[in-house]
Amino acid sequence: MKILVLNCGSSSLKYQLIDSDTEGVLAKGLCERIGIDGSRLKHQPCGKEDVIFNEYMEDHTVAVKMVIDALLHPEYGVVKSASEINAVGHRVVHGGEYFSSSVIITEEVKEAIKKCCELAPLHNPANLIGIDACEKIMPGTPQVAVFDTAFHQTMPERAYLYALPYEYYEKYKIRRYGFHGTSHKYVSEEAAKMINRPLDQSKIVTCHLGNGGSICAVRNGLSIDTSMGFTPLEGLVMGTRAGNVDSAAITFLMEKENLTPSEMDNILNKKSGVLGISGVSSDFRDVEGARDEGNARAEIALDIFAYRVAKYIGEYAAAMNGLDAIVFTAGLGENSGSTRRLICNYLEFLGVHIDSYNNSLRGKAVEISAPDSRIRVLVIPTNEELVIARDTKELLDK
Ligand code: AMP
Repeated sequence: MKILVLNCGSSSLKYQLIDSDTEGVLAKGLCERIGIDGSRLKHQPCGKEDVIFNEYMEDHTVAVKMVIDALLHPEYGVVKSASEINAVGHRVVHGGEYFSSSVIITEEVKEAIKKCCELAPLHNPANLIGIDACEKIMPGTPQVAVFDTAFHQTMPERAYLYALPYEYYEKYKIRRYGFHGTSHKYVSEEAAKMINRPLDQSKIVTCHLGNGGSICAVRNGLSIDTSMGFTPLEGLVMGTRAGNVDSAAITFLMEKENLTPSEMDNILNKKSGVLGISGVSSDFRDVEGARDEGNARAEIALDIFAYRVAKYIGEYAAAMNGLDAIVFTAGLGENSGSTRRLICNYLEFLGVHIDSYNNSLRGKAVEISAPDSRIRVLVIPTNEELVIARDTKELLDK
């Protein structure tokens, strides 16, 4: 079965065509600047040259059409007819309390995704546009929604409720939802295999550290707590996001600087994090470079980042009453040995020891803990597209 996996952003569309029988990627690519001057499609067919189509894409419907054309292209294509694409799997950011697993898209499902737009105003509308575009261009092809939040719906009330007046949970559904669920699910399952433990008897902390970052406590294969909350702002210090801050500091700042809610939101989401502290960049490579050249604010930014990650790992070891393995994944988690080292230096009390050589390896799943480490530490490249393809196939097979 060939499954088209789509990840629609407000002005972008990432795709992969996956053969679900071999789990191989037949082609992948990215449409950028949709609806903006200079839009382009970068198409990467497996075993052939990459190609860039510089054509204006007015909206996501045009973008989906261009993706299909690229997949069918006589020279750069990988399928002969659109009917070879058996299904489309969509990444949908917010499923609220409606979805605890992936679903086949129906009108009711679309209505529920629409209702969650208020909770993810930057993401869910774009996801819906992608779904509508596919319905127009590939009518009759089954579509599946895979939610970032679904994996965390197993969290108990004690983990997801905030200590606000209960009526706000009832009225506005203000609670912890958690994000990056597909990634946490995938790497925790891979980790259980790597440490040779049944998933349903394992205690794993997964650290998805990219531009945005979140940590998850996965006990017996289920998410029981996670660091992102009502929105992807809570928790870790991120590239540009503040993570946890005393809420009183926010209202204090708004009064002092006469800031509107959206101005404050912009500061917390776009101007804080390692960028805000270091003043250097939101990209960890730049900040690490500045630290290595002696920039003190870059050094403290990275230390604050690592300290916060380590505190969550300690917290979740307590939440699970034990810990078998820690997993690092996503851009930073997979690639930055120095950041992993900084984090693990704070975990001596758990008996965590890192093997320097394995910690320097890149691009594959590897165990980086030393033989005498009490906790196994793993680096596992995430693969959210594969999870989406697997869920899509599983639902269609049913
Ligand atoms: P992601 O959101 O998963 O694409 O991750 C993006 C983040 O990973 C960016 O902040 C990058 O700086 C960071 N990253 C990627 N490669 C490296 C690397 N080799 N060293 C440090 N950070 C990296």
